[in-house]
Amino acid sequence: DSRDIDSETKTVCPFCGVGCQVSVKIKEGRVKSVEGINGPANEGRLCVKGRFGFDYIHHPHRLTKPLIRRDDAPDKGLNVDPANPFTHFREATWEEALDRAAHGLADLRSYYGGTSVAGFGSAKCTNEEAYLFQKFIRQGFKHNNVDHCTRLCHASSVAALMENVGSGAVTATFNEIENADVAIVIGSNPTENHPVAATFFKQFAKRGGELIIMDPRGTAMKRHATHMLQFRPGTDVALLNAIMNVIVEEKLYDRQYIEGFTEGFFEFRDHIRAFTPERMSELCGIEPEVIRDVARRFAGARAGMIFWGMGISQHIHGTDNSRCLISLALLCGHVGRPGTGLHPLRGQNNVQGASDAGLIPQVMPDYQPVTDVEVRELFKHIWRGTEIQAQPGLTVVEIMDRVYRGEIRGMYILGENPAMSDPDVEHARKALAKLDHLVVQDIFLTETANYADVILPAAAMPEKTGTVTNTNRQVQMMRAALPAPGEAREDWQVIVDLARRIGLDWDYDDPREIFDEMKMSMRSLHHITWKRLEAESAVTYPCSGPDDPGQAVVFGDGFPRRAGRAKFTPARVTPPAEVPDENFPMVLTTGRQLEHWHTGSMTRRASVLDAVEPEANCSLHPSTLRRLGVEPGGMVRLVTRRGALEVMARADRAVAPDMVFLPFAYVEAAANILTNPALDPFGKIPEFKYSAVRVEAV
Ligand code: SF4
Repeated sequence: DSRDIDSETKTVCPFCGVGCQVSVKIKEGRVKSVEGINGPANEGRLCVKGRFGFDYIHHPHRLTKPLIRRDDAPDKGLNVDPANPFTHFREATWEEALDRAAHGLADLRSYYGGTSVAGFGSAKCTNEEAYLFQKFIRQGFKHNNVDHCTRLCHASSVAALMENVGSGAVTATFNEIENADVAIVIGSNPTENHPVAATFFKQFAKRGGELIIMDPRGTAMKRHATHMLQFRPGTDVALLNAIMNVIVEEKLYDRQYIEGFTEGFFEFRDHIRAFTPERMSELCGIEPEVIRDVARRFAGARAGMIFWGMGISQHIHGTDNSRCLISLALLCGHVGRPGTGLHPLRGQNNVQGASDAGLIPQVMPDYQPVTDVEVRELFKHIWRGTEIQAQPGLTVVEIMDRVYRGEIRGMYILGENPAMSDPDVEHARKALAKLDHLVVQDIFLTETANYADVILPAAAMPEKTGTVTNTNRQVQMMRAALPAPGEAREDWQVIVDLARRIGLDWDYDDPREIFDEMKMSMRSLHHITWKRLEAESAVTYPCSGPDDPGQAVVFGDGFPRRAGRAKFTPARVTPPAEVPDENFPMVLTTGRQLEHWHTGSMTRRASVLDAVEPEANCSLHPSTLRRLGVEPGGMVRLVTRRGALEVMARADRAVAPDMVFLPFAYVEAAANILTNPALDPFGKIPEFKYSAVRVEAV
């Protein structure tokens, strides 16, 4: 009833990469309710986070004033009194806090050089804020050591897509599944992590589409699947190469497509011959006849799609995993037509947009390499004479290593929480404690903010205006539904204030000015204007004209690579970085769960979500619990080479008997105390999905 609300604003859900459009209804300065509206991705639907997760913005823990670490505060660390979390900080004016923050970074630059300072930006920011953040580091400190959470997410997928397809974004929206006959969903649990996308997948299955799920964990989606391949963790390449072996040996591939649109097929064909289903079955645990059946169905489909998630990307062979998926689609000609495509499901609301905006160390906006002299010249022109460094920058985990070694002494962290999200997180926490100067900009006193010298209070997503880009390449207008509390400010305003204080001549007064500057270097934004987004709320890139809503499917007429051809890159089977042994006989895998998103800073402060999932938990197979003598709901101790923690155990038949699944949202049982920091050599992504672990009864 419109009489019950003071205002209603159309904006975008702040959580996952699906990018559902919502209507936020406000009454007396508070969110009264949230409804799904007809956005291109969600068509009116919402999941529990979008519908019930917004009241985190009213939580009493919100940062409403700038904070400065007290002179008499003890050493930096997480050992604060939970009843009085702000005890080590004092309130400050914006003037004092901005001066302190900026001068601390500028002083390090003067004493030790620009590379003594690094930046972590955020996918929780708008495109304009992500763009400004990378510009702040690149222009202000003259290097490329700036990154964000894509590194912990789909960096390996993007590396493989850039290498073999020439573009890091999806080739088709997930909604295209309605035009497919067969869809593979691998290393992804969309029912929990991309719930609205999952509803489209279920509809596809209901209409008779063949849904092939491949995952070491059983997922809720398997009820809708025609095939469920629960393979051994870490054996993705073995399974996928075996499927492609069948397609090659039985000549099921699309010869015309391969000849017209690809390169490297003959070397690939020779390589794949060794990976017979019989040999690979011993590794991956899937019967050869099942492998053959799946290969024939996918290759024989009129239109097939492949979706994947962190189960593919978060391995030391994550880039190889994605290379296999790309090759599989190319072999079958399942790219560039309706109902075909490659789709890495993005995890955060704006991880696609922040990556597009250049918040990654190797590339400028629109993935233009810093190593390319013409790219550097372009930005020198747009950024009024700024020299861009040709040396690609350091990634998230590499930066934390340099901090630990004392080579990086200052950081500006915006909306990221490495004290929870980094692998082997005790190492990251020790590193953060060593920093001479840490500026954290966030909406809560996160675990990372506990280590800060200056904390700058930011607006939450429902409190700011700007553009965001979802997993479907849909650029959407996010609108402020209500003002930020207290003195909190929008991130772009704070970045501008800091930039001026470190000597940059920035004069932005509005996010649309930033967007217009982005358009000068980003072809992906051609024909997408602020005005259009205000009117239409979403435009998909690439977009061919002012009236084109954008292309749901791309690369029908070739790829943005040499001669327009995509590439087959062979992948070999490599074992995980650490394999189970006598001391650590099981496999730990980590991830999200439906109600809690990432490090929990938002969803654990959302009252409904916290009420549904209030307690840290892990999942074990009932037979494992029986072997341990632990009842469901009892406590277990998880031990890896990095550390140990105690957590409540749930019985879950979806988890294999030699595995344990642990969500990473809970600070009291922080999963990343246990995880392995070993990196994929290409995407530099840590192996969150595979650590050797021992489980003990408590
Ligand atoms: Fe928000 Fe993702 Fe849920 Fe949509 S599916 S409501 S974007 S969390």
